[in-house]
Amino acid sequence: MIESELRNSTTEEVVAELRRRSSFVMVSHVKPDGDTLGAGLALGIALRRMGKRVAYFQQDPVPRNLRFLPDTEFVARELPADLPPDTLFVFCDMSDYSRAGEFLPKIEREHMLDIDHHLGNSHFGAFNYVIPSECSTGTTVMHLLRGLGVEVDKAIATCILTTIMTDTGGFMHSNTSPEVLELSAELMRLGADKEQITEEIFANKRVAATRLLGRIVDEMQFAHDGRYCWSHVDDAMLAQTGADGEDTEDIVNTLRGQEGVEVAALFKAYDGEIRVSLRSNGRVNVQAAAATLGGGGHFRASGLTYVGSLDDAFAAVDRALVAQGL
Ligand code: 5GP
Ligand code: MN
Repeated sequence: MIESELRNSTTEEVVAELRRRSSFVMVSHVKPDGDTLGAGLALGIALRRMGKRVAYFQQDPVPRNLRFLPDTEFVARELPADLPPDTLFVFCDMSDYSRAGEFLPKIEREHMLDIDHHLGNSHFGAFNYVIPSECSTGTTVMHLLRGLGVEVDKAIATCILTTIMTDTGGFMHSNTSPEVLELSAELMRLGADKEQITEEIFANKRVAATRLLGRIVDEMQFAHDGRYCWSHVDDAMLAQTGADGEDTEDIVNTLRGQEGVEVAALFKAYDGEIRVSLRSNGRVNVQAAAATLGGGGHFRASGLTYVGSLDDAFAAVDRALVAQGL
């Protein structure tokens, strides 16, 4: 890859490109969360207000707890048939385009804009707007909305505040800077309903999800003098509790929250694959650990897909974490 391809685009360059194009497809990652979806919706709504044509591509369905977001009824797993040739594909919150899933047809690099805040983003677009110091992809999008001079209304404010609350864990993670709190206050004044977002994202748990939490907690294991906690969920546990994959989302944070635990891992072995979620208290870099196994993410929150048996996954992740100083 040549040096210029790794270069980030400036806000002005991205804004000029957004103005120049007439048609957009906002792309979210597989197993979507409030950041990938909220960031895409916020920018999509703004572009539609500017008279642009906007479609949304997401391989997986909109999770139950994000259906309150505006315009989610337009999110589809197929591309419209009649996309104009100047369509720009806007990838939100993914360190590589492969995170969009295998259903997305191949897209020429010149038609890709990569908006993200992950460490180790591969700068896969012709335009890359990657700011790892941002707490969410949504706050990264905020710079573009300001550059475009778009009025941030209730719908857009709700989407952006959802990205913040998702990626700061409800203002609890270390990425909750004074600036993030100030922006959040501004978004609330613009109409974003923090209570509704809290309820949808952090409450409203299905009973099946809480029963699954109980099963996963039962299976917790500890190693490295109690600094590492891990557990797993498999097809049988989902069937026993009536829960599904969406219900596993923030359980890894419960494991990380145990006394003395610095790193937690949840191994999600269902639907024919093993997905691993890693969380750290900030001493061990779990992004680096995940990256050695083909995954990625952030210093304190990362993930990967492991190909092999569950026992091999346990061993490989343990080794990768030890290599990072666990
Ligand atoms: P989660 O555990 O919530 O699925 O993911 C935590 C973080 O790691 C998120 O920021 C997510 O984007 C990132 N992540 C999860 N899985 C993968 C993966 O397979 N590849 C990469 N590059 N990042 C991942
Ligand atoms: Mn994010």
